[in-house]
Amino acid sequence: MLRFRSANLGELRPSVVTLPTTVPGVRLAYGEAEETFRAELVAWLEANTPPHEVLNQPKHSSAYLMDWSRAWQRTLFDAGWLVPGWPPELGGRNASASEQMIYFEEFTRREIPRSLNPQGLGIISPSLHDYGTPEQQERWLLPTLRAEIAWCLGMSEPGAGSDLASLKTRAVLDGDNFIVNGQKVWTSGAHHSDWCLCYVRTDPTVSKHKGISVLVIDMHSPGVEARPFAELSEPTYFDFNEVFFTDVVVPKENLLGDLNNGWALTQGSLSHERAMLWIDFAYASQRAFTALAESSERVGNNGRPLREDAHFRDMLGGFYVDTQAQTLMGYRGLSKIMAGKPAPEHSLLKLYGSETLQDILLAAAEVQGHEALDLDVLGPKMWRDGAWVTQWMRSFAGTIPGGTSEIQRNIIAERVLGLPRT
Ligand SMILES: Cc1cc2nc3c(=O)[nH]c(=O)nc-3n(C[C@H](O)[C@H](O)[C@H](O)COP(=O)(O)OP(=O)(O)OC[C@H]3O[C@@H](n4cnc5c(N)ncnc54)[C@H](O)[C@@H]3O)c2cc1C
Repeated sequence: MLRFRSANLGELRPSVVTLPTTVPGVRLAYGEAEETFRAELVAWLEANTPPHEVLNQPKHSSAYLMDWSRAWQRTLFDAGWLVPGWPPELGGRNASASEQMIYFEEFTRREIPRSLNPQGLGIISPSLHDYGTPEQQERWLLPTLRAEIAWCLGMSEPGAGSDLASLKTRAVLDGDNFIVNGQKVWTSGAHHSDWCLCYVRTDPTVSKHKGISVLVIDMHSPGVEARPFAELSEPTYFDFNEVFFTDVVVPKENLLGDLNNGWALTQGSLSHERAMLWIDFAYASQRAFTALAESSERVGNNGRPLREDAHFRDMLGGFYVDTQAQTLMGYRGLSKIMAGKPAPEHSLLKLYGSETLQDILLAAAEVQGHEALDLDVLGPKMWRDGAWVTQWMRSFAGTIPGGTSEIQRNIIAERVLGLPRT
């Protein structure tokens, strides 16, 4: 077990390993061309990023586009810095995988959001890009990238979360329209969205992964009702919704992809972007770790500072290793992907990153004692400000969506380790 002997653990500062660095047996370093790319990006960000007080204004939901965020996303689009891996006409510059990694490093390290409608930009745009007809892309993809419209994602239902294929929201083709009835839940930002990318059952007679289709539903249509509800972690912040569809008429040209082939849309493009999102957890873990390390002067139950407590020191050492290991795993996986090799590391990173963050935040909250529950005492900033206990509860937003930790373990067991299904 690692033991830290530093007299002042508050000075222990993990850093997200930034390249170039040397790991025994492996040399990880960006090339000159990539560092030129970084310099161009940094210069542009320094000249154009809205001031800190603008970026940090309280948000209303994950689909509420404030005026500044519309303008900022449009600026990114016009300058080719919105989706760097895409071509210029789609807000990019055909950046390579390593350049995209640099892009995410710089945005994450500086805590600069690209969009205040992350599901619209990160999940729905790739689906429109991959499966939309030219007319659909003109109608929805470009306005989404230019922050003119906001989206919600209608996947989960009361009886279909991890087992998404069990969804029951029904769409029946009637002439030129689908008629939609059913209910979604956990629909982030639905009450502020213009459109919903909605997974519906169009054929209930075939096996459950078949017979699913994807419709683009106008959230202002008669029969659509979004009922926002508060989060346990933040009673005043309304992002989640229940969404009810009652005889909603959806033109059949709003079908995205082929009829009954909706399952294919759960896998969008931007695989490089997906392979880089671990950096978000890596920086968040670093901030949480720093806050925990700074608590080492607090006095424990035995009347002595925590820095003298062997259990606390061991815990800190373990978390330090975790924060560094996830970063190095991320870069190792990226370098394999760039070499065209499989990268099983990336199947582990969502689980490892989100759980490391959660474990550090729980430990950090416990160390604060009753102050952790005091809403006026702020913990480390985790995407938004909040009390220590709020930040720990907020960390569940990493371990649940996009496949819960248990589902991630199933995937790792079956697809990475090749263990038999039971
Ligand atoms: C912050 C946040 C934002 C979200 N935004 C959206 C959104 O915009 N749109 C949307 O459609 N959904 C959204 N969701 C919902 C999210 O996709 C679901 O919560 C998630 O898929 C889990 O489904 P569930 O909540 O129904 O839990 P369930 O699937 O019912 O799972 C309950 C528990 O059982 C475990 N479990 C389930 N199946 C298995 C299994 N096979 N093996 C082992 N354990 C299992 C799970 O791990 C979990 O612990 C969001 C969720 C969060 C937390």
